[in-house]
Amino acid sequence: MIILVFNAGSSSQKSCLYNLGASIPDTPLKPLWEAHLDWTVAQEFGLLTVKSNGIKRKIEVREKATALKVVLDTLVIGETQLLANLQEIDLVGHRVVHGGTKYSQAVVIDKDVKKAIADFIPLAPNHNPAHLEGINTIEKILPDVTQVAVFDTAFHTTIPQAAKVYPLPYKYFTQGIQRYGFHGISHQYCANRTAQILQHPLESLKIITCHLGNGCSLAAIKDGGCIDTTMGFSPLEGLMMGTRCGSIDPQIPLYLMQEYALDVAQVSHLLNQESGLKGVSGISADLRNILAAINDGNAQAQLAFDIYLHRLKSSIGAMVASLNGLDALVFTAGVGENSAIIREKTCEGLTYLGLQLDSAKNKVNPVDENIATDDSNAAVLVIQTQEDWAIAVATASLQD
Ligand code: ADP
Repeated sequence: MIILVFNAGSSSQKSCLYNLGASIPDTPLKPLWEAHLDWTVAQEFGLLTVKSNGIKRKIEVREKATALKVVLDTLVIGETQLLANLQEIDLVGHRVVHGGTKYSQAVVIDKDVKKAIADFIPLAPNHNPAHLEGINTIEKILPDVTQVAVFDTAFHTTIPQAAKVYPLPYKYFTQGIQRYGFHGISHQYCANRTAQILQHPLESLKIITCHLGNGCSLAAIKDGGCIDTTMGFSPLEGLMMGTRCGSIDPQIPLYLMQEYALDVAQVSHLLNQESGLKGVSGISADLRNILAAINDGNAQAQLAFDIYLHRLKSSIGAMVASLNGLDALVFTAGVGENSAIIREKTCEGLTYLGLQLDSAKNKVNPVDENIATDDSNAAVLVIQTQEDWAIAVATASLQD
């Protein structure tokens, strides 16, 4: 079964191709072909990087309207060719950032699903339009192929009301202002992989998954479902992130508008693009650059690191309270998978739970491994998140 996975954003598109064979394997396969189209590297063109057949090719793409055709052509033409024709693709799976509360799992895309994705554009203005564009373009190029939407919000639809409803006048909840949560594909994949690695049924584990990338969020997972998460109505709430502030006193944006005469767009830009690690350090959104600056004695970089960690630890504490216990703490995504110091310092705040990190295991680039000591009360896992694989699997499981 050949599955094309499509992950479209406002400034970049990532796609990849899997051949799942006759049945879905238990552990992730590597994609046979990967394409990354980035519109941020130059003004006049998008840079397409294709990896396939052991080679890497870079192509300048001039027109947005025909960009997807250029991407897909690399599957059937030239040195990156893998397929005789595009009709060999059995299914296309799309990552969709916002599906609201309507979809608790992946669905085959039809008119109603497209309408729902369009309805949520006001809540995901940077993503849902790009998803729709991708879906419509595939429809034109491959009119007979089944397309599936895999939602980042779906895993969070099990969150109970007390964690979902904001303490605003109730009518706003009925009009859709609530906690939706994001990174659900990653949190769900990591929860399932945790159960697999620990050889324990997922339903009997209390898990906190820490997705720490450019965007960061936690999920509390119990009885096999998500019961709490740090991101909320938008991906701005919760942890401190690369450029996003995370949770702040809600009065602050109002004050900025009143006292600094900033408009909505300016405040939004400040909170989403100019805050977080970048805003506090004044250096970078990338934790690697912050750590390098700390080494050089930069006090603002140290402060950015300290705030990041303080907020991470206190939010994990909140998730522990929601779960009333902890069997496994999971680190994933760019920071979670690669930063031993973040894992070490985070776990230092959890020794009261009997959680003990094996510092030797933590330091040797663990992948899909328990890095707690044998006598630790809870496991500590580093899991390489595999969102594309999870989308491929969810897509394949919907085949008639
Ligand atoms: P995204 O959220 O865009 O998918 P990633 O999950 O790839 O991002 O995470 C990217 C972030 O991971 C980078 O901004 C960087 O801060 C962090 N990162 C990657 N490698 C390391 C490392 N070795 N040490 C610390 N941070 C790292």
